[in-house]
Amino acid sequence: MKKRAKQVLLASGVLRLAGKLRRKGAAILMYHSVLEDPSRVVDSLGAMIHPRAVFEGQMELVAREFHPVTLEQVARFVREEGDLPQRSVVVTFDDGYLDNFEMAMPILDRVGVPATFYVTVDCVENRRLPWPSRLRFSFRKTSRPSWTDGGAKTWELTSESGREKAYLAVCDRVAQMAGVNLESYVSSVEASLEARLPESSSQLMMNWAQVRGLADNGHIIGSHTMTHPNMAFLKVEEARREFVESKQHMETRLRTKVTHFSYPCPALFPNWTDATAEESRRAGYETAVTTSSGLAHRSDNPLLLKRVRPTKTVDGLRWNLETAFAGRAV
Ligand SMILES: [Zn+2]
Repeated sequence: MKKRAKQVLLASGVLRLAGKLRRKGAAILMYHSVLEDPSRVVDSLGAMIHPRAVFEGQMELVAREFHPVTLEQVARFVREEGDLPQRSVVVTFDDGYLDNFEMAMPILDRVGVPATFYVTVDCVENRRLPWPSRLRFSFRKTSRPSWTDGGAKTWELTSESGREKAYLAVCDRVAQMAGVNLESYVSSVEASLEARLPESSSQLMMNWAQVRGLADNGHIIGSHTMTHPNMAFLKVEEARREFVESKQHMETRLRTKVTHFSYPCPALFPNWTDATAEESRRAGYETAVTTSSGLAHRSDNPLLLKRVRPTKTVDGLRWNLETAFAGRAV
């Protein structure tokens, strides 16, 4: 829809009226990283970053025109144990970037928006970026003209599209691995491309003290697995290990219960199944969020909650929230 038409619709109040008539639901927003200058890390994090000024504007919008609530409130609402205000919004972050602590938390605390931060244990424990960012960097920065995937297929790397194709194919493969297998394969690809992220990239992830700092400020901490696989493409015992070990590890490090989970979406679709939902319940999680789009409604499965993408502008977020509350099929 054209920008002008969107503005007219937003100003008319029609969407708000539609929202009042719709079944009540909560919008769970999904963020990753907030940086002053996203272009600095475009070769690794790519398009996952919100510029600080945009994020600040979006949080002011949420605080002013919607009802910021906690994930715990949404969990009670979904389980039919409590109610929520109309137009409730939850803010979540995936992965565990340092800017969540340094850049996002001060903004959230200033405008009074509580958030949930899902961290990947391996990334915090070993201070390294999630593997899709590491591979993205290697394929974009390698000076090798071609790359052979374990003797199976040779990819030309002389053009940007060739690099992108090879990168996406490798992501599809790695998304189905977990644990030490995943790490040793990613490491071998980095080595064979002779392009590894610089040491300084470890500074992009939080350490445990910083994760604890988020919790000490009243925010919720959840698990985003041990090694960031696609949970739906793992063997059951591998998926179980990712659910259980990340929870135990975080509870030891943070000295608090971890009962919320976020499904990584590194490549391939879907990234959850009814079987993974059952495994998450057995592991002791109370909620889990996916990357499927939509609102969280009363009597939804709390272990398969949908989220809403915030887009990269303040007006874009307003549009996505207003239309989601008005019942847009997403
Ligand atoms: Zn992630």
